[in-house]
Amino acid sequence: MAEKKEKKEKEDEEEVEEKGEKGEYELKDLPGVGSTIAKKLEEAGFTDLMALAVMPPAELSQAIDVSEGVARKIIVAARKFLKLDFDTGLAYEKRRKEIIKITTGSKNLDNLIGGGVETKAILEAFGAFGCGKTQLGLQLAINAQLPIEEGGANGKVIFIDTEGTFRPERVKQLAIAKGLDPEKVLNNILVARAFNSDHQILLLDKIRDLLNQGEPIRLIIVDSLTSHFRAEYVGRGTLADRQQKLNKYLHTLMRYAEQYNLAVYVTNQVMADPAMMFGDPTRAIGGHIVGHASTYRLYLRRGKQNSRIAKLIDSPNLPDNETVFFITSYGISDKED
Ligand code: ADP
Ligand code: MG
Repeated sequence: MAEKKEKKEKEDEEEVEEKGEKGEYELKDLPGVGSTIAKKLEEAGFTDLMALAVMPPAELSQAIDVSEGVARKIIVAARKFLKLDFDTGLAYEKRRKEIIKITTGSKNLDNLIGGGVETKAILEAFGAFGCGKTQLGLQLAINAQLPIEEGGANGKVIFIDTEGTFRPERVKQLAIAKGLDPEKVLNNILVARAFNSDHQILLLDKIRDLLNQGEPIRLIIVDSLTSHFRAEYVGRGTLADRQQKLNKYLHTLMRYAEQYNLAVYVTNQVMADPAMMFGDPTRAIGGHIVGHASTYRLYLRRGKQNSRIAKLIDSPNLPDNETVFFITSYGISDKED
């Protein structure tokens, strides 16, 4: 009898996960969401739970005109419902064994994120203009090519450039600093300029083709993940739409990451406008667009004397901590130039 019950529970769980993955669950399935709130959510354009699960509470509170506390409860319920929080121990262990960690070039930064930028996960770096998001991306594009023993992943890199800030000269400079052949290094980075959000989304198919063809891609960089979306979707009415598109985009990337054992690095600019902040900037705009358990979020800011401060936020398995690193002529480092 107990066995039967257990089996049923397991099946239910699997169904929830499957439906959750496909985004088939509806708002009214969410525990604690009454018809009034469900209606508000629908009116604001929220059609699936995944979009809710990854909403920042402050934005949701504004969008459907409820208190931030209520918004938070809805988000937490959505996350729980979609099982975004936990893996089984066994599945987790198996996953972990295959993971490769790519060094950032700074031991401090590596340690902060658990030893390096992990495959099968998305690392999101967010912060103000000039805080080093692109520099970190360029550095990772080189480091990912290093042999595994040297902190690399022995692979090629895809760089989706939405802001026109990819700099071959800088890549060469960083490659030479590592004693690598700059031409070879550049050759292993497949760069695509994304001209708008639709184009950015379309490029996902191109990436899939490359992966299917067996290109040994170990890192996908999207710099920036959000700039086109932010520019194109302005105003409250379009917020849910934007969030859903971004969310789907990230989910596709996450699938590639899991399936092909590759790392994903995305950047996200936080605007410096204080009016846009809801208290702690690390919890504000750009929000919790990445809601998956295997995801790391780094908040970067300028520190004293050309240093950079990185803060790890909302990690499922690491403490929220801070560390210092430098951007030097030879790359990301623990020491100044
Ligand atoms: P973000 O992408 O977050 O807007 P970037 O990654 O472009 O910021 O960082 C730009 C900063 O990186 C510059 O302000 C400078 O401090 C540093 N930087 C860029 N190139 C070099 C270099 N060749 N040598 C030293 N520092 C550099
Ligand atoms: Mg940049």
